[in-house]
Amino acid sequence: MAVLDSFSLAGKTALVTGGNRGLGLAFARGLAEAGARVVIASRDHDRNQAAVQKLSDEGIAVDAIDVDITQPGEASRMIDEAVAKLGRLDIVLNNAGISIHRPALEVTDEEWDTVVNLNLTALWKVSIAAAKVMKDAGGGNIINTGSISSLIVNRPQWQPAYNASKAGVHQLTKSLAAEWAEHGIRVNAIAPGYVKTEMAPVDEPQFRQHWIEDAPMKRYATPEEIAPTIVYLASDASAFMTGSVVVIDGGYTLY
Ligand code: NDP
Repeated sequence: MAVLDSFSLAGKTALVTGGNRGLGLAFARGLAEAGARVVIASRDHDRNQAAVQKLSDEGIAVDAIDVDITQPGEASRMIDEAVAKLGRLDIVLNNAGISIHRPALEVTDEEWDTVVNLNLTALWKVSIAAAKVMKDAGGGNIINTGSISSLIVNRPQWQPAYNASKAGVHQLTKSLAAEWAEHGIRVNAIAPGYVKTEMAPVDEPQFRQHWIEDAPMKRYATPEEIAPTIVYLASDASAFMTGSVVVIDGGYTLY
């Protein structure tokens, strides 16, 4: 196979949680541009439809599922609906996530649960539901959006629940990769640094010192700069990779 052909996702299908904006939207676009048929899944119907329309205007057809994956039964309902729409499920991107900035002593139990329930518990439930389908199909590919927040403690804002949840994502990635290799299911994660999205207000002056100036490359990323790594992990270009966490941070975690 020619090297660039190994990045092709022609004939593959993919589900992207949190795909209606930010990183997820760029990932959905990237997977589709590489040849996959893609379904995005997020809570807000209007935002989902706006994303479908935006990609359609670019000549990319994707479908959408309205779902809150933290609600009981909804992760497996989403997987069933994705299979119904796509016919099969080759690639699942666990990308939906949330962060709450608050010093540990001020974090409420509800805030802790909100972050951990989405970033870690829902990711677990989606992975389990997806792996059942993939195992029966003879294989599949799960990619998790982790974070450099599992490797460092961000400044100046405190976000203990987020950091702990993402550390859990990295270790769960490795655990599931080890268990599911025998089923032909690869599980990898990315750990992005600061990326300009609604979640990360990278342009606000109070964050400039620690988010931008402290990084060797002295800039943030755009979602489009992270998407090619997702295509790599989703494709046969990374056929021998499982249980890996790919750091993409402009050198932020070097010091
Ligand atoms: P955004 O806040 O821009 O997007 C979050 C996405 O998740 C939206 O599509 C949102 O849609 C969806 N979502 C939120 N809650 C739920 C839910 N309960 N069920 C289903 N979907 C949900 O964030 P980013 O694009 O910045 O982040 C994407 C991922 O990347 C996250 O996991 C984040 O932790 C991670 N990350 C981000 C970094 C950054 O600098 N931006 C750095 C490192 C990691 P809706 O509201 O309609 O549900």
